[in-house]
Amino acid sequence: MPTPLPVLIAGGGIGGLAAAISLARQGIPSLVLEKAQSLGEIGAGIQLGPNAFHAFDTLGVGDTARAMAVFIDRLRLMDAMTGQDITHIDLGAKFRARFGNPYAVIHRGDLHGVFLRACRETPLVELRTASEVTGYDQDGATVRARLANGEHVTGAALIGADGLWSHIRRQLVGDGPPRVSGHTTYRSVIPTDRMPEDLRWNAATLWAGPKCHLVHYPLQGWKVFNLVVTCHNDAPEPVAGKPVPFDEVMAGFTHIHPRAQAIIRHGSDWKLWVLCDREPTPRWVDGRVALLGDAAHPMLQYFAQGACMAMEDAVALGHEMAAHRADLAAGLAAYHARRLLRTARVQLQSRAIGEHIYHPAGVHAALRNAVMTAKSSEDWYESLAWLYGGNGLDEKMREA
Ligand SMILES: Cc1cc2nc3c(=O)[nH]c(=O)nc-3n(C[C@H](O)[C@H](O)[C@H](O)COP(=O)(O)OP(=O)(O)OC[C@H]3O[C@@H](n4cnc5c(N)ncnc54)[C@H](O)[C@@H]3O)c2cc1C
Repeated sequence: MPTPLPVLIAGGGIGGLAAAISLARQGIPSLVLEKAQSLGEIGAGIQLGPNAFHAFDTLGVGDTARAMAVFIDRLRLMDAMTGQDITHIDLGAKFRARFGNPYAVIHRGDLHGVFLRACRETPLVELRTASEVTGYDQDGATVRARLANGEHVTGAALIGADGLWSHIRRQLVGDGPPRVSGHTTYRSVIPTDRMPEDLRWNAATLWAGPKCHLVHYPLQGWKVFNLVVTCHNDAPEPVAGKPVPFDEVMAGFTHIHPRAQAIIRHGSDWKLWVLCDREPTPRWVDGRVALLGDAAHPMLQYFAQGACMAMEDAVALGHEMAAHRADLAAGLAAYHARRLLRTARVQLQSRAIGEHIYHPAGVHAALRNAVMTAKSSEDWYESLAWLYGGNGLDEKMREA
């Protein structure tokens, strides 16, 4: 029998590698084409809802992912103007019992490494670096990916997991550049002994202020704290990972409480991102080509779910490709149908919570505090059940 053509995957980030593993678990070979010279992740921390752990388990990497994670016991919301607690969500035994999995934080490199190791352990995944995909052609039976170096690579299908600036999306959807949100994020990592002692909480903490917020949590076995601070300063251009001096960071936070400002003073080696997202699109699939992860549904980070959604996409993709081996285009259409509304909900609600929880001022902020203080952890579990209960497949399909 001839060897089947691999599924081509443009992009070896978290979404692309998770997709490769998901296909391999169904016996489907893939070839990952990554633009960079080496495989890896930049940036420090990432939060993982229980839905991420459902996806890890379905992808067979649950134990290795758990070994890398820090299991926090609260999501805390603080008022950045007064320095007061607003509310918290308890992530202890009741939360885990409700969702069947924990909430955790992990270093991005460690998360990427979990998938990279799994890819290297199976002969069904081939990884190629220095391979930028610029576009594709298809003939109904195969897809040809065009590479920047002039090469062509042929596969049974093509998955565009090439991130926010996806070339595959440019050809498939053609909806221009992403929307610049005007929100500027600065990231730093603080050795734990430099984090103010009274704030070394085992929590993901959000300090919410007018047009700005801070997030911090412990990482890497408590060696460091991840610190991400954001201000809505109407930045006009997208930027990714530009080093910036401390004074430029602090300029967006001069109006907040000294206790919150003090945290920023402990940061160093700051880097800046101007955040982008997109409107949800109904078009993710073109015959044997489909989008996945940020290429399909880039979102603001306010639900901390972009990577979680990419992993859920991977689960759904593997499932549908296996269910439609004789008609891969139908498999991609079924994958899209399964994922479209859930990811659109996260995209749109991420914007909404940015406006109503992270960044309000004055009466709007007082209303936030009043509404959120009145909620118990159980109320929050109920509100978040639609999100944390999923794994990319609904219950019926999980049993199938
Ligand atoms: C400040 C911030 C905080 C966040 N926090 C969280 C969080 O707490 N929890 C969470 O779940 N998510 C979070 N996210 C979102 C998360 O980082 C992304 O959603 C996730 O990394 C998307 O993964 P991806 O594989 O789809 O895309 P990417 O990570 O962008 O990977 C794309 C890959 O494709 C490669 N590539 C690009 N173009 C090409 C090409 N033409 N050909 C071949 N290869 C190509 C790139 O080099 C890269 O390796 C956050 C995002 C930001 C900005």
